[in-house]
Amino acid sequence: MKRTIEAPVRALPELPFLPAELRSRVEGVLRLPADQQPRWPDPDKTREATLALSRVPSLTTPAEIDQLGDRLASVARGEAFLLQGGDCAETFAANTESHISANFRTLLQMAVVLTYGAGIPVVKVGRMAGQFAKPRSNSVDGLGLPVYRGDIVNSLAPDPAARVPDPARMVQAYAHASSTLNLVRSLASSGMADLARVHEWNQDFVRTSPAGARYEALATEISRSLRFMSACGADHRALHMTEVFASHEALLLDYESALLRVDTSTRRPRLYDSSAHYLWIGERTRKPDGAHIAFAELLANPIGIKIGPGTSPELAAEYVTRLDPHNRPGRVTLISRMGNDKVRDVLPAIIEKVTATGHQVIWHCDPMHGNTHESPIGYKTRSFDRIVDEVQGFFEVHRGLGTHPGGIHVELTGEDVTECIGGAQEISEADLAGRYESACDPRLNTQQSVELAFLVAEMLRV
Ligand code: PEP
Ligand code: MN
Repeated sequence: MKRTIEAPVRALPELPFLPAELRSRVEGVLRLPADQQPRWPDPDKTREATLALSRVPSLTTPAEIDQLGDRLASVARGEAFLLQGGDCAETFAANTESHISANFRTLLQMAVVLTYGAGIPVVKVGRMAGQFAKPRSNSVDGLGLPVYRGDIVNSLAPDPAARVPDPARMVQAYAHASSTLNLVRSLASSGMADLARVHEWNQDFVRTSPAGARYEALATEISRSLRFMSACGADHRALHMTEVFASHEALLLDYESALLRVDTSTRRPRLYDSSAHYLWIGERTRKPDGAHIAFAELLANPIGIKIGPGTSPELAAEYVTRLDPHNRPGRVTLISRMGNDKVRDVLPAIIEKVTATGHQVIWHCDPMHGNTHESPIGYKTRSFDRIVDEVQGFFEVHRGLGTHPGGIHVELTGEDVTECIGGAQEISEADLAGRYESACDPRLNTQQSVELAFLVAEMLRV
């Protein structure tokens, strides 16, 4: 008798211990078609890596993740603002103390200005400690090599052997993420997050930026407020430390599923992706019948979905109803990345349709990914003016509809790179070659990031 054995679509990763019902749901999701996954060459090595990850300690805990859930509920209700930022692609080589602390410091500098401008708390979420996997538009690069998919999959080195996916990189990524979180947790509770100190860095920005005079008035107002608080003897611990959460794109399903952990302390077991506090699904992997959206549906973590200009209002409403079955404010963040020339036209109908569902989502603006272009000599870049204009358009749309512009999501670094053009330093296309270091998309440098925060603070005060 001839037997045919149907080959599985993709080998399932080793999973951590899960109650039987949850396990079969996870397996069902992992059998769905998934875009942008590497073809690991060696199934035994892949199993070894996912087995190792299925047993390691969590990077985040359910309590922290739920804490973020509470903060995000305030954002969805219009009582807080969400600031998310960091590298487009973290790399193992740049996972140094100086790089991580500079990125964190820049995020804090932006947060202080935004807190003052908005007059409400700013929830800080880093693109860090796991932002290692990248979706790509083409499977080969300009040199005809298999494309770089992020340090968690292969190497950026332009060499065919280096581009072969290596599953051991997932274990390295976990170790890097763990050391990043260790440093960030410590910086957040020690001197670096001291409000007065962060404000001093912003005063340095105002002193040294060519556009400093424009922002001086706002910085002086903040100084006066700090002096006032100090004169009153107000000295709360919140002035000396901060709270920061980690996020990345939930792209590489072998990594994400191996780091699933279950919390059985509640009546119904809850499934957490312990690789981060917050995860988002990218523009290229948000097919409603694909594995990524179904994976996000299983999780107790807050979920973001990137929505580009091709998103129909109906699809946006479908994401929200599927991902927020229990009507929890802030469970879903819709991260619009429309492009400055489209946001004013495309976003209103999406907001109206989603608002009509009754779900309270966070409206988040990513002014980076719809505004990327290639410079004449081949650098991927973005113009500061278009970035500012997309945020401006986002605010206008929300003002018009009476909804809450919940925050911004940006790619930034605390280093003096030359990857985006414009800003007060007037970085030109000719300057890009000077210090272009991103492994993927162009990031705002420190000055551009802080300048953006001052401009957004002005928009918030209108
Ligand atoms: C990203 O955030 O780096 C990214 C790839 O974004 P998007 O999915 O919106 O293109
Ligand atoms: Mn990017």
